[in-house]
Amino acid sequence: MKRPGSPLSRAAGEGREGVLRGRGDFDLTGRVCIVTGGGRGIGRAIAEGLARHGGTLVLAGRTEATLTDAASAIGERAGIQVADVAREADVLALRDAVVARFGRIDVLVNNAGINPIFRGIERTSLEEWQSIIDINLTGTFLCCKHLGEAMVGQGKGSIINISSVAGHVGLLRSVPYCASKGGVEMLTRALALDWAKRGVRVNTLAPGWVDTDLTHGLLEHDVHGRRLLDHTPMGRFATAGDMVGAAVFLASDASAYMTGQSLLIDGGWTAD
Ligand code: NAD
Repeated sequence: MKRPGSPLSRAAGEGREGVLRGRGDFDLTGRVCIVTGGGRGIGRAIAEGLARHGGTLVLAGRTEATLTDAASAIGERAGIQVADVAREADVLALRDAVVARFGRIDVLVNNAGINPIFRGIERTSLEEWQSIIDINLTGTFLCCKHLGEAMVGQGKGSIINISSVAGHVGLLRSVPYCASKGGVEMLTRALALDWAKRGVRVNTLAPGWVDTDLTHGLLEHDVHGRRLLDHTPMGRFATAGDMVGAAVFLASDASAYMTGQSLLIDGGWTAD
């Protein structure tokens, strides 16, 4: 695992600095946190938020330069590992690197995801369907399986799967994406049952429309952007920062009695 900037200075399990600073149950001091797709967008914001609460971060993703930039902004408590979550060998290498460096994994945020197409099923190819399922659903499966097993071994951990409103309600021209996120929701509930007595909690964080590289073109679109905004009760799109509080809550002991649930952070989209 690479560590841009100065070496990681604080090993897992050290210090009660966060409690002394008043973070209480939200304190992540000494917790080793992996964020997939942590180089930009929602993943980067969540990684920065977990770090602000004391966590030691490993940013995993496909593009080294993007990861390095994000890790440098966090500082000495962040490292990077290049990994494609859809490739089992990469996920195993990620697990081995983090366990070798820290001896444990406390928090896993399965954030890596794509949604490259907006069109009807008639014009959706098998290859397009498969690529979305491979990353959004199979990638989440692989990371839960291999990184979560380390948590089971230590008897404690929190997995946060980034789902979407699309895991709860249908969205127009988004069949593969909705199917993948619906799968993430049910994977989460089923795995939560399997690991409930083994100390590993599994929840989803389901955002509404967040202005990131993934969605910017759509949200800026005269017709489609306006339609989405009109349907959002709070009358604005989210920022990636709007997802951080829920992520810190799910990562920390503040949510110690919560598993198999989905936190919708959607400006009221699914309340309608
Ligand atoms: P983004 O495109 O800005 O970031 C996605 C990140 O995932 C990127 O860093 C990308 O490189 C990485 N990634 C993609 N495929 C990967 C792979 N195979 N292996 C490793 N990393 C990979 O998008 P975002 O908006 O920040 O989305 C993050 C997550 O939030 C996604 O799962 C997305 O489905 C979900 N989400 C986004 C919105 C939104 O409106 N932006 C809404 C609901 C859910």
